[in-house]
Amino acid sequence: MASPNLFSIDLEDWFHLLDTDAAPALSTWADQEARVETNAGRLLDVLEQANVRCTFFVLGWIAEQYPALLQRIAEAGHEIASHGYAHGLIYQQTPQAFRDDLRRANDAIEGAVGVRPIGYRAPGFSIREDSDWALDVLASEGFEYDSSVFPASRAHGGLPNAEPLPTRLPNGLMEFPVSTISTPLSRVAYLGGGYLRLFPTSLILHWARGQRARNESLVLYIHPRDIDLDQPRLDLGAFRNFKSYVGIGGCLDKVATLLSEFDWVPFRDYPRDAAAS
Ligand SMILES: [Zn+2]
Repeated sequence: MASPNLFSIDLEDWFHLLDTDAAPALSTWADQEARVETNAGRLLDVLEQANVRCTFFVLGWIAEQYPALLQRIAEAGHEIASHGYAHGLIYQQTPQAFRDDLRRANDAIEGAVGVRPIGYRAPGFSIREDSDWALDVLASEGFEYDSSVFPASRAHGGLPNAEPLPTRLPNGLMEFPVSTISTPLSRVAYLGGGYLRLFPTSLILHWARGQRARNESLVLYIHPRDIDLDQPRLDLGAFRNFKSYVGIGGCLDKVATLLSEFDWVPFRDYPRDAAAS
């Protein structure tokens, strides 16, 4: 059976950056310049032109602030999944705090669109070895799938030795790791966020076609800020400034190319019996 490709958008704003003192605190989010509706609208237009439905991993705080945007997304046929409420790194939380954050996000999302999410993605893919208890919390809260495993090294999070393809975990949860490619040095992510912005389209297509030739699902993620040249810029230091803001100008065209080159479905449509192991 052909394994489908999964396209996702992490629905958050330009200031939802992790692991930096330069990012504003939750208590001041409502005072920041709001850009998520405009940028999400541009992504919705490109998806509509390509006739693709995908999954939006929505921050609970965004669901509370922008219920009309969530309704627009749901009415266009896209899946609404959860990105948690307050965008905290999992490995800095207790299991109970994580559970509370999940429930708060579910309440916000249900309040906006009347649908309870069955899928989850952790802020910053922050499920790593010392926070993999989160996968059992997700299963016990009734989630059916997770897409928080980043099977490569990473500043925050990362499980370099994890199974890199969709798989069913022993607790019953389906896991959809983001797409990575093996290089002689290490396993590298290439189909999301800063990686998607950094690598040239020709190289991304080469790697993605290689995965398809092996009947491997592509798992892509993008943020609305990844296409926003006019967003306010936080002072993150030279290295993270580069990572956070490189390649924004060409990113929407890159997304349009990938949408037309491959077939994509929302995560909810991944066949239940098609797991790799
Ligand atoms: Zn996020």
